[in-house]
Amino acid sequence: MSARIELITTGTELLLGFTLNTHLNYIAQKLATIGLRLDRHTTVGDDPAELRAAIAEALARCRVLLATGGLGPTADDCTREVVAELLGRPLARDETIADAIRERFRRRGIAMPESVLRQALVPAGAQALPNPHGTAPGLAIEHENKLIVLLPGPPRELKPMFEQYVLPVLEQNFAPADRPVCRVFKVVGLAESVVEERIGAAPGVELGFCARMGEVEVRILGKNLAEAERKIRAALGPHIFGEGDDRLEEVVVKQLAAAGKTVAVAESCTGGLIAHRLTNVSGASRVFLAGYVTYSNESKVELLGVRPETLARHGAVSEEVCRAMAEACRRRSGADFALATTGIAGPTGGTPEKPVGLVYIGLATPTRTEVQRHLLLFDRETFKFFASQYALDALRRELLKSHRPA
Ligand code: ATP
Ligand code: MG
Repeated sequence: MSARIELITTGTELLLGFTLNTHLNYIAQKLATIGLRLDRHTTVGDDPAELRAAIAEALARCRVLLATGGLGPTADDCTREVVAELLGRPLARDETIADAIRERFRRRGIAMPESVLRQALVPAGAQALPNPHGTAPGLAIEHENKLIVLLPGPPRELKPMFEQYVLPVLEQNFAPADRPVCRVFKVVGLAESVVEERIGAAPGVELGFCARMGEVEVRILGKNLAEAERKIRAALGPHIFGEGDDRLEEVVVKQLAAAGKTVAVAESCTGGLIAHRLTNVSGASRVFLAGYVTYSNESKVELLGVRPETLARHGAVSEEVCRAMAEACRRRSGADFALATTGIAGPTGGTPEKPVGLVYIGLATPTRTEVQRHLLLFDRETFKFFASQYALDALRRELLKSHRPA
């Protein structure tokens, strides 16, 4: 029997449907990685009486209680106070936390409202969990052989705190010894059905597939994954770009950094999305030189030097223009590699010869230029994402061939 674990997510916005409750899904998935699962989940609004009742009920049943939200400075944030009162543990200001909050405001150069210091209040005997991404620390309380963990509401604050402080404690104290392990392989450039067909059966493990935008996740769950992993890697080869939370742009930035190479992009239909994705990755400045968003024909001529005759003869959405964009981008930026996109995102603007969804993706390398043609039948945003995915994957595969990691 594993320890009973419950989750309470708080926030009136969750009950009104304004915010999707992503904590449930995130926390449940993280628990699964250490062989644990939630036994119950409750959502309550920002109402002290409701919250108090929910916490009291959960504590009567569970060994571990996780609660999210309501640790902030505003009037609707009441989790800390409700828990302190319920457990009979007085709140006292922790001066180290108060100083950290003051320092955060000082560094940002904004005046600090006195109310934010509420976030430095800690119930007696509680441990504060540092929050480098916000002001409110998390709180962990051992109470009558129960562990209660209060976590901040904003996902970008909750996630690192959960991974750094909460998951290791849960793993050490509650994870079953012979638990099944879960691994997720991330696949690009193959449809979900093709992935499934290629892998076939995987004896001894539970196999799952999940189609995401522009990629497929293959999940295996079992006690011994080695054989299944061998089979999956043999079936999918270089289509596997990573594992777990890996993102394609991160993989590409890492590859470029390892090879000591640089990239620039010339984007028409993706409107800067490839540059955006690459620059979301820490360390991008070492490998990303420039992005040209050349949406109009004029800008393709002026910023990249695409010849007006090429545009007139073949049209902006053509293999020839894509090639010219990629090569000019590489030349003008001085990068080792250049990516280019030109296409028709729709829903208007298609013709019988050049239908909506048509896209050309160019990759210029020091020795050659390749242009792929795809038909992406999606809404505009999905179209852009798929195009950026194909472009990044073209570069990933090129780097895989030319700069194999030692
Ligand atoms: P803050 O200091 O920002 O007020 P907090 O700990 O008080 O933090 P909340 O006020 O409950 O947290 O929520 C802050 C933000 O996080 C809101 O934008 C809220 O919609 C979002 N959020 C809270 N809970 C969830 C959840 N379960 N899933 C997704 N987003 C959430
Ligand atoms: Mg709040």
